[in-house]
Amino acid sequence: MAESQNKRDLAYARTKINFDVKDMTNFLHGGEANVEQRRYIIDLIAKDPVFNKDDWGWLNHTDAVKRGIAMSTRLAEIKMEHDLNDLDFATMMEAIDDTLPIVLHNGAFIPVITSQGTEEQIEKWIPPAEKFQIIGCYAQTELGHGSNLSQLETTATFVKETDEWEINSTSFTAAKWWIGGLGALCTHAVVQARIFIEGKDYGAHVFVVPLRSLDDHKPFPGIEIGDIGPKAYNGFNKMDNGFARFNKYRIPRENMLMRFSKVSKEGVYTKPPHSKLAYGSMVLLRSVLIKQMALYLSRAVTVSTRYLTVRRQFNNPTSRNDSDLNPGLETQVINYPMVQNRLFPMIAQSYALFAAGSVMMEMYIGLMTGLSSGNIGALAEVHAMSSALKSYCTTFAVAGVEESRKLMGGHGFSYFTGIAHLFASTVPSNTYEGDNYVLTQQMARYLLKEVKTARTNPDQVTPYSKYLLLGLNKSAFARSTCSVALPEDWLNPAVQLAAFEHRCARLAYELSDAVEQGGLDTANPKTWSDHNIECYRISHAHAQYVMVLWFIQAVRDASNPETDVERRAEPSSIKVLERLSNLHALHTIQTNLADFVEDGYFSPAQCQSLRAQVKNIVASLADEAVGLVDAFDHPDFLLNSALGATDGDAYKRLWDKAQSEPLNRRQVCDGYEEYIRPLLKKHGEFKL
Ligand SMILES: Cc1cc2nc3c(=O)[nH]c(=O)nc-3n(C[C@H](O)[C@H](O)[C@H](O)COP(=O)(O)OP(=O)(O)OC[C@H]3O[C@@H](n4cnc5c(N)ncnc54)[C@H](O)[C@@H]3O)c2cc1C
Repeated sequence: MAESQNKRDLAYARTKINFDVKDMTNFLHGGEANVEQRRYIIDLIAKDPVFNKDDWGWLNHTDAVKRGIAMSTRLAEIKMEHDLNDLDFATMMEAIDDTLPIVLHNGAFIPVITSQGTEEQIEKWIPPAEKFQIIGCYAQTELGHGSNLSQLETTATFVKETDEWEINSTSFTAAKWWIGGLGALCTHAVVQARIFIEGKDYGAHVFVVPLRSLDDHKPFPGIEIGDIGPKAYNGFNKMDNGFARFNKYRIPRENMLMRFSKVSKEGVYTKPPHSKLAYGSMVLLRSVLIKQMALYLSRAVTVSTRYLTVRRQFNNPTSRNDSDLNPGLETQVINYPMVQNRLFPMIAQSYALFAAGSVMMEMYIGLMTGLSSGNIGALAEVHAMSSALKSYCTTFAVAGVEESRKLMGGHGFSYFTGIAHLFASTVPSNTYEGDNYVLTQQMARYLLKEVKTARTNPDQVTPYSKYLLLGLNKSAFARSTCSVALPEDWLNPAVQLAAFEHRCARLAYELSDAVEQGGLDTANPKTWSDHNIECYRISHAHAQYVMVLWFIQAVRDASNPETDVERRAEPSSIKVLERLSNLHALHTIQTNLADFVEDGYFSPAQCQSLRAQVKNIVASLADEAVGLVDAFDHPDFLLNSALGATDGDAYKRLWDKAQSEPLNRRQVCDGYEEYIRPLLKKHGEFKL
């Protein structure tokens, strides 16, 4: 059979790329060794029949959870058989492309015990957890409360006589709810419960709680457990998000994790040296999410870029003429500027997310190193940063996955694009690990403290809040304007950063002034709530600023001979990376233009030249788009997409996939005799 036009189009697009895709892949994934290891791990999963995805579209929740358990246990076996580390485990989860009941065992259960347990507790729980002799989940949220940790209704009452805790769900709404892994798989949980000692409430603390017998998997007496049922968009359908109610259930005193807070045999409570020390594990989960968003969004744009390259619609000429190859054919839709201006900024955002994911992980590692030696200096900033970035990145990544679907027109709505599944997996990230709106208050609170520091001890503001110094002289700040005179000035990273810094400084001082003028108090939720909208604005503005900064730095480092070789790139790659970094910065400004205009920082003429510059950069990336998504190195098994496969054979694959629909196994559909025939015959025979 002759090669399809689809395949020819994608192959031809690859001949136009002006950089080395392999070099770009190495840059994105932190060096060749990482790329090889990732491929090896994905291949392990791809060739194991348990992880076959062919029937996923037809699984109901009940069957899907059983499949999720089969996949979870196989995953555990592979990890042990191949002696894989946590990073490899995370790559396996990525390759599997679904959230499994086991995910929080390595993602939360082990890290929480490791970061909040004493040496003895780590010694007791981690070796069996690593051998999967026990499997754990993370149980914080309740039917009645999630965001507001301080009002959790699960209690742990100290029973001095027996040296135990009595875990109790004190009301109907105290039931733990949403807990991943709890519904069917897990034997243990780390449970957040408020401790009471001799009637005194000491707030929420973490306990290791055995849930199910290690002999027959039955829940222990005193615990009622179940699955909470199917979820939105059929997402997380292999995950057994569960509920649990505790009825005066006893566990030993030592099951409270006591690295920071302690309770002695005598019932003496010792509080932690810093009230937020336990935040380390939350920072980890949120930091991991940034990297995950890079992988999710980059997958979505890989599929849409490839499909839009092979999709043709109308004969409208565009400035990017492809008639050299295909005279007389309709226009490839990727050549329409409207399509490019929707798609290419998301490719740039994906690259920015890769950079941000790496820096956020480095910040987390730095924080944990500091904490282990008693240095809590970085805690407040890293916690605020991970909250702000989690909120911002998951918000735009989810929107981007959906935009990638819409970009593909009608076929985009087919399950076989792989994007419907991806969207359903991605969308709850806006809610779990902290609701994206509530989370922004963390960064706002932090910045308000930094405003105070800027006013009182200006040399003590942290590097990321240095922009606050700009606003100390109010009248000079009010007069400052953007320096862009010529369109090419927009391509100067210093100009871009100055604009973000100016906007952040203005929003931070405005919030600070409003809080002070109103006599309002950030510790008083009744009045603080009046500023939630401004908190969201400054938090996302700060997140955008650091994202832009980190991407600029990553590109700069890539050409610096002193940088580790894994983070360097060849000049041809750097040329394209610079364009992506410019597009990311300028497109982010463009989509938030009102913030830069409302105090007169940009003039109307600058707004116009900014828009023109964004269009220019987008157009300059047309030949590189396919290479840029190929560089993400997502194999076909992972994409699971008829429209976005590496060979571009979209129509053939879509046709073949539709043939696998079980309805098509019979010529006359099930239900004909029962429903269709009686209706057709109701008023007698009609002869054709
Ligand atoms: C798929 C999924 C998996 C999950 N897995 C787990 C798990 O394994 N373990 C676990 O413990 N939990 C889990 N959760 C629960 C999750 O962490 C919480 O649902 C999340 O933190 C949001 O809290 P909430 O449900 O209390 O939302 P709420 O706080 O009730 O939010 C409801 C609305 O109120 C708004 N709101 C709330 N407070 C404020 C405020 N102060 N100011 C302004 N607006 C406000 C929010 O923005 C939101 O729009 C999971 C949730 C999902 C969806």
